This record gives sequence, structure tokens and C-alpha cells, in this order.
Amino acid sequence: MSRGETGRLIAETGVIPKKSKGQNFLIDERVADRQIDFAKISQGDRVLEVGPGLGILTSRLIGRSGDVTCIEIDDALADHIEGTYGERLRLIRGDAVKVPFPPFDVFVSNLPYSVSTPIIFKLLEHDFRRAVVMVQKEFADRMTADVGSPDYSRLTVNLFYRADCRLLEKVPSSRFKPQPKVDSAIVEIVPRPAPFTVYDEREFFRVTEAAFNHRRKKIGTSLRAAKIIDDGWDIPFLDSRIEELRPAEIAEIANSIFQCRKELTRL
Ligand code: SAM
Repeated sequence: MSRGETGRLIAETGVIPKKSKGQNFLIDERVADRQIDFAKISQGDRVLEVGPGLGILTSRLIGRSGDVTCIEIDDALADHIEGTYGERLRLIRGDAVKVPFPPFDVFVSNLPYSVSTPIIFKLLEHDFRRAVVMVQKEFADRMTADVGSPDYSRLTVNLFYRADCRLLEKVPSSRFKPQPKVDSAIVEIVPRPAPFTVYDEREFFRVTEAAFNHRRKKIGTSLRAAKIIDDGWDIPFLDSRIEELRPAEIAEIANSIFQCRKELTRL
């Protein structure tokens, strides 16, 4: 789908691309081909796409699998997808953050930027094999950051807990119409069990959030300020900074807080 053809389709569908709905349409056929190849879809796979838009990925997905479902929030774009692909896919009209996902094996999406985080975490509540998503480049860097890098964040740790994430390709902003201000990247997400033990998930997420809220402070200071620990508790890494700790070490902190609290309630 060239820039010109995308312009023609935008005019035909009557869509006025909205920033709030992340409506920047991919116009590079080769990028679309590679994104679909990365997804490694087999004919029997159940495929889910959020935000088919004008269909640059959708047309390729229905060539790979006989079981494709799309969720689109915009009525004009949903009409376009229904009119073009009819019975060859299932279309759900609505907000992908709110509507239940059908069962799926592979997830492919050029994600609307404003809802990338809730959709990725909703995704991870499901049992699936692989997701290949286009997100803002900065967001991709945070998803895949190494410990100690400036991009290492709460998002990195919470994702690492549930999946392996890999940045596969950077995509310049010029590959979209209308052209956004920032570049994008394609990221692969492969779910797997956490490679470390977590006694209590809520504690792990709470510690991660509180410590990254003040990433330059010592962890002990952040956790005391958030009233997660009290003076005198024997917890590891309290003099470290969160950006220096691997997810497994953050889990050690959360686990020993969980133990301390359990012992206190026994007294
Ligand atoms: N897949 C197309 C492409 O690659 O050109 C369009 C991608 S565009 C970045 C995002 C798409 O998601 C748009 O079609 C937009 O209308 C849709 N969208 C935005 N927010 C949504 C939501 N909450 N639920 C479902 N679709 C949404």
C-alpha cells in the first residue's frame, strides 16, 4: 500500500486520521511483509489483530491463516474491513482494551500508541504462542532494556516477569501516513514462566512500582516512603538503586517482604 494508495483509501473511507486513536497507517509493503514473517503463522493458527485500520497487515494475515479475528474501534475503518474482507475474517467492533479477546495463538498489531501498555498487559493474561507488535521506538527500548540502562523501567521488569521481548526492526516515521513525530519498532513477545520464584505477584509489582517511582533513591528509602516496609526489617538490597538490580533480585526483595509480613501476622 503506497503513500498515494493509502491517501486514496483514507479519502474513500471518509476517515480523518485521529491522533487520539493512533491512526498512523503503515505504507511500506516490505515492512508489512517482514512483520508477518516474524509472526511465523501456520495455517491452523488462530490469529488476533488489534486495529486493522486500512488492512495492510490484515490482507497478509488472511493469506496465512484461515482463522483471523480483528478488533477495530473506528466505525468507518471497521466498515472498510468488513466490506473488503467479508467472510474471510471475524470482525469485532469495539475498544480492544475493553472487549474480551477470543482465544488466539498468534497476536499481530501495529498498536495504537495511547493504548499500547494496557493492550500488551491484557495480552499477557492469555495463553498464546507469540506476539509481534509495532510500538513507538522509545516504548520498544523500554520493553527490551538491559539492567542499568536508562530505559530499564517498571515496564521492562513487569514484562520480563511474563515473557521474552526482542526488538526485531526499527521502522522510521516516514513509513507511516500521516507521518508521526517519532520512529517505531517491531517487537516480538514470547510468553514463558518467570525464570525466578515470586511468592506473591502483587508484592512483586508493588515493590517494582514503588522503587521505580524514585529510581535514583536507595530502595530502602523508596520502600519506607511508600510504607511497604518498616525500620528493622531484614530485607536484601535496601542500599542499592533499583536500576542496578536484575528482575530476579527485585523478586528476592519482594519475597523477603512477603515473608516478614507473614511472620509479623503470626506474632
Ligand atoms: N493496522 C493498520 C496499519 O498497520 O496501518 C492500522 C494501525 S494504526 C497504528 C492503529 C489502529 O488501531 C487504527 O485502525 C485505529 O482506529 C485502531 N484503534 C485505536 N484504538 C483502538 C482500540 N482501543 N481498540 C481497537 N482498535 C483501536
